[in-house]
Amino acid sequence: MSRKTWGSVIFETTIRPRPTKAANPPPMRHGGVVFLDRDGTMNRNDGYVHTWDAWVWLPGVPEALARLQRHGWRLVVVSNQSGIARGYFDEKALHDLEAAVDADLARHGVRIAGWYHCPHLPEITGPCTCRKPEPGMLRQAARDLGINLRASWVIGDKYLDAQAGIKVGCRAIILEPEGLDVPRYPDTMQYVKFRGMRGVSRVPYAPDMATACEWILQDDVRKARHERFIRRGRRGGPDARNPKDAQDARAQDAKDENAP
Ligand SMILES: [Zn+2]
Repeated sequence: MSRKTWGSVIFETTIRPRPTKAANPPPMRHGGVVFLDRDGTMNRNDGYVHTWDAWVWLPGVPEALARLQRHGWRLVVVSNQSGIARGYFDEKALHDLEAAVDADLARHGVRIAGWYHCPHLPEITGPCTCRKPEPGMLRQAARDLGINLRASWVIGDKYLDAQAGIKVGCRAIILEPEGLDVPRYPDTMQYVKFRGMRGVSRVPYAPDMATACEWILQDDVRKARHERFIRRGRRGGPDARNPKDAQDARAQDAKDENAP
């Protein structure tokens, strides 16, 4: 398939970071995590990065991850590392690098809940179920860490990251629409057409990690507001004519706005 056939921009919306007030939010009750691709998503993809010396953070990534974690999201890395199959580096080098990244992230208060990689390359090691776009790593992480995949997100720079996530019920955000000349507007989410999977017509595209994280946190706010709406409905709901009920609703909405 030609890369050009992936599609075009069909929708865009601007989101703005909001000040955060939540100091110690509870862990997510739904059990979801944010799955992160590594090369091209967390660090600059210079090709088969396997030493800390060669690791370059993409702008704003540790800060964005800290913000997600502050709002209760666990973080799990899922990465294709065919450099192992190719013999460019070994598992030990990879684990040493992960330890160095962990140490650096600790300065930001960020803890990666799990590191997963696929060491294979079909041409060399035969087909496997873990190399993205297959969802094997996500499934394994779900078993190991008790993750609710349907409440989880995937952030990656490639369509194959989105595909792996969508196959197991996650939502996805991509950072680089392949084959598309899409301008990067700061703080702006765009939907790009997605033609790789049946039933999935579009996927959100973020210009950077900070914007992707903001999108997730604002989705949490929307969800909380919706749940409250449903709850009120079950109890008979607030009376819109009662000034006290209206005031309570406004106060709760303001609290949600400020939380993430
Ligand atoms: Zn594999």
